[in-house]
Amino acid sequence: MRRVTVFGATGSIGQNTLDLIARAPSDYHVVALTGGRNITQLAADARRLGAELAVTAHDDLLDDLRAALQGSDVQAAAGTTALIEAAARPADWTMSAIVGAAGLAPGMEALRHGATLALANKESLVTAGPLLMATAARHGARILPVDSEHSAIFQALAGEDIAAVERIIITASGGAFRDWPLDRLARATLAEASCHPNWDMGQRITIDSASMFNKALEVIETKEYFGIAPDQIEVILHPESLVHALVGFRDGALMAHLGASDMRHAIGYALHWPERRDLPVARLDLAAIATLHFHAPDPARYPALRLARDVMHRGGLAGAVFNAAKERALDAFIVGRIGFLDMAVVVEEVLTAMSSDSGLIDAEISLDTVAHVDHLARVRADEAMLARTL
Ligand code: NDP
Repeated sequence: MRRVTVFGATGSIGQNTLDLIARAPSDYHVVALTGGRNITQLAADARRLGAELAVTAHDDLLDDLRAALQGSDVQAAAGTTALIEAAARPADWTMSAIVGAAGLAPGMEALRHGATLALANKESLVTAGPLLMATAARHGARILPVDSEHSAIFQALAGEDIAAVERIIITASGGAFRDWPLDRLARATLAEASCHPNWDMGQRITIDSASMFNKALEVIETKEYFGIAPDQIEVILHPESLVHALVGFRDGALMAHLGASDMRHAIGYALHWPERRDLPVARLDLAAIATLHFHAPDPARYPALRLARDVMHRGGLAGAVFNAAKERALDAFIVGRIGFLDMAVVVEEVLTAMSSDSGLIDAEISLDTVAHVDHLARVRADEAMLARTL
């Protein structure tokens, strides 16, 4: 029986993970499930799957969680320290699916304990890629990618030598606004940005898909995980979202990964790796699909992609600055404080300002320095947004 822990269990990736685990309950012992504000879901899943422990990230919700778990054997805990303690409990497989920079510390702790970490939380690699990879190597732990593009690349690379790779192409659906005229984007509403044409995901990543910040994070994630040079990574728009990524080799061969737009494929691949097992995902009918489209992204429409190149060029803690400024700008867009296009403007302003202090960006990457620049970037982003609304 495999011991499994799921961070971010109440979210979109977390729920898809639990769906797969619940289909073979005798194969898994659930060590810990963690969530944020959705106590009802967290408690219900912890009871249903017989988890040892349920943790909410919010201290003020501990009494609610205890009440929801009354009469069960599931232990309740709350707060960021409790998340780290959950990560320290021995597990064979840990899903990292907290959204945002908050996912980094629990993932690091799981790696320190030698866990196999299924990594959906792309922010971990963006903010602290070298640290994460070095921690895994030092502790004999393994990181398996769960982002659909990175799972696709990982699968295309099976049995291949990374030195034979010429380029990696990740696909982008183009998000909610891919067919909108450019001048309409400034007035895009939260509801409009929260609908993805192909994927059913959490709200934040859905909005990030519309702005292409999600793809920007994924480009950086590709560099950090596969250790490939930035100019070997390409992005191509592919509205059908059926080809998830392609790997180009030095002999000109291009290996593409195709599959339904269902995250249970990438999650299931990471769950069963190195085996392949039956998964409840739709099979593609290529004759019915008939045509696939690809086109180059318009740089004017997607400034986030240019910013990702800038981040990779700067290196060091630039990813942590980029991600924190992006998260803060996204918070502000969600509450209606800034417009859709303002997000990229704010992020660029913060990145430029903080990069001019080379001592800051070039500091050694540790959990402390990431937390420090993360905090500074959020403050800077708030200042930049205040200046824009005055
Ligand atoms: P959701 O918003 O659906 O879920 C996020 C999870 O994190 C929830 O369990 C939430 O708890 C919890 N959470 C939120 N804030 C905190 C915090 N500060 N501390 C601890 N836990 C917190 O996100 P997704 O499932 O969509 O995405 C999760 C991660 O996976 C992201 O990094 C995303 O980029 C990545 N990813 C997602 C994909 C998808 O298809 N959804 C595809 C590829 C990658 P609660 O809801 O209870 O408040």
